[in-house]
Amino acid sequence: MEATVIQGTGTGANVSLRYSLVLPIYNEEQVLPRLVERIRLLIHQLDGETEAIFVDDGSHDGSVRYLRCVVAAEPRFRLIELSRNFGHQIAITAGMDAAQGDAVIVMDADLQDPPEVVLDLVAKWKEGFEIVYARRVKREGESLFKRFTASLFYRLLEKMTTVDIPRDVGDFRLVGPKALRTFRQMPEQDRFVRGMFGWMGFKQAAVPFERPARALGQTKYPFWKMVHLAAHAIVSFSERPLRLALWGGLAISALAVAFGAFAIYAWAFETGVVAGWTSTVMIVSLLCGINLFMTGVVGMYVGSIHAEVKRRPLYVIDRLTGFDRAMPAVPVKNRRSSRKSRIGVPANVRTLRQL
Ligand code: UDP
Ligand code: MG
Repeated sequence: MEATVIQGTGTGANVSLRYSLVLPIYNEEQVLPRLVERIRLLIHQLDGETEAIFVDDGSHDGSVRYLRCVVAAEPRFRLIELSRNFGHQIAITAGMDAAQGDAVIVMDADLQDPPEVVLDLVAKWKEGFEIVYARRVKREGESLFKRFTASLFYRLLEKMTTVDIPRDVGDFRLVGPKALRTFRQMPEQDRFVRGMFGWMGFKQAAVPFERPARALGQTKYPFWKMVHLAAHAIVSFSERPLRLALWGGLAISALAVAFGAFAIYAWAFETGVVAGWTSTVMIVSLLCGINLFMTGVVGMYVGSIHAEVKRRPLYVIDRLTGFDRAMPAVPVKNRRSSRKSRIGVPANVRTLRQL
């Protein structure tokens, strides 16, 4: 848990830019020392003031203890401890709410999103893109099954929704102030973050990168959690499953009419074919299956509406560390295209004040 503290400003620091790194953490004690070192290196390579916000998503290993130590010793690090495990997408949201930078970069803690790629994201952002996402051109250390299901999911989502959600893109991205402000105005409980950024538009660009295997530790996305995320993504961004009921019902009705015609033919011409037990059971079970499936689909949407109407806060913060050391205020005229005046009061001020 020994932490080397690097003081002072990063090399070639440009006072006109401020970056925030958001890192969701869930039981990552094994990888944290390595991550912290890589983040320190990155901070020194970035051309502006940088803060790293670690969001502990209810870890029950030694992650929090380690992070509290590191954050206390390093002025650029901050820690948000959520009161329990709220899930990856909510942890990202909590970090983005608290970020003070002009550009916010979200990345996984397990070094599958290599910190060096952030430099490429920043370079692209400076070309004038509001959202720059990192696209996985190669995925290492992931099973064939995971790659196949992921690819199937991205393609299915593309077919299901009219929102432009880029393929093979996770949550590793850089977001400019306009996109950040829009994100903070989106109150939905069912948060599929990459879909939300796809929905909002703006000038977006991709930076390709090869995704390495997880540095240490286990994935926090087992198969059932992936299915859950995929189902929520579809429910949040597509009404098509609801329309399935209509088309499914029509198709079954057409089949029923054809079967009825066959029954009448058999009765009229006494071909000896009697509609027996097998066909009856087949039809009943088919209809029951479709009925149950569609009830489930409707149930998912009703569940989503239920979560929204309760209007609960998205997350609960248990403890904040390091936020008393705010990033240095930069005069408006120095900031990239005088953004401060356009951003207004960030939502995080409201969120953190509620504590
Ligand atoms: N994570 C989180 N809350 C969760 C699950 C995951 O904050 O409930 C974090 C995790 O610590 C990591 C990131 O989300 O930083 C991505 O998780 P993981 O690497 O396990 O996913 P995978 O890359 O295997 O899809
Ligand atoms: Mg990972």
